[in-house]
Amino acid sequence: MIETPRDLYDGVILDHSKQPRNFGPLANPTHHADGRNPICGDEISIFLDLNEQTLAQITFSGQGCAISKASASLMTEYLSRLSLEEAKVRAKEILELLAKDFEGDPFERYGELGALTAVRRYPARLKCATLAWHTFLAALAGETTASTE
Ligand code: ZN
Repeated sequence: MIETPRDLYDGVILDHSKQPRNFGPLANPTHHADGRNPICGDEISIFLDLNEQTLAQITFSGQGCAISKASASLMTEYLSRLSLEEAKVRAKEILELLAKDFEGDPFERYGELGALTAVRRYPARLKCATLAWHTFLAALAGETTASTE
């Protein structure tokens, strides 16, 4: 059976929101920030274990809608084990990707993470998708809170 792009997007989002990867706080994070998206009520906390400029571990906790959780889950898989600089560049790239129309096949380029571009269909949900990434960058910058507002 051939899945339509829409099925594929929704399937990934559903999977990651129901069975989030890297879910749960770290006991001794080197960096940590709590993010809030007041519009939707999403609350996502990001925990990092930075070891010699490499993201040894990245996890998240919190509650929110399916998109905010799936985005955080996909992010932890995407950024895990990267160098600090690489992770920062990629996080910013994804935020840009979500803010504009993407040309080409996002799955080919970003794997499962490409599913997040589905929020382009729902502009009101954009902040749900970007919350985890903003919170990650805030944590790296040494800030303890982040808000989409
Ligand atoms: Zn949301």
